[in-house]
Amino acid sequence: MDDSTTVKTLKQSVVSFRDARDWKKFHTPKDLAASISIEANELLELFQWKTPQEAQALLDDSTKMQEIRDEIADIVIYCLSASDSMEFDLSEAVAAKLQKNEEKYPVEKAKGNSKKYTEL
Ligand SMILES: [Mg+2]
Repeated sequence: MDDSTTVKTLKQSVVSFRDARDWKKFHTPKDLAASISIEANELLELFQWKTPQEAQALLDDSTKMQEIRDEIADIVIYCLSASDSMEFDLSEAVAAKLQKNEEKYPVEKAKGNSKKYTEL
């Protein structure tokens, strides 16, 4: 599998996994929002207390890199489940948000700096 697998295919796999276990009843908007946050924090925990150099070095550690990939995948899995439970098209939502970000961060103002759009 590579990044060319469509969001639709991934979403179908997530829904099949969830429904085979009769877990849809647990996937409320509140619990999905909490789960996305919990998984994001599991990702953050892998970097906790590391210096910037130590954090960068994790990317060269295959065991740690697998853990990082797993946590990012968990986040995406819950996002896909949320888009199903809350009945919206995730691809469309990402494209629409990128467009909003384009407007908030025009290249001529944002290129090469990390300022928030309110500071540009
Ligand atoms: Mg996890």
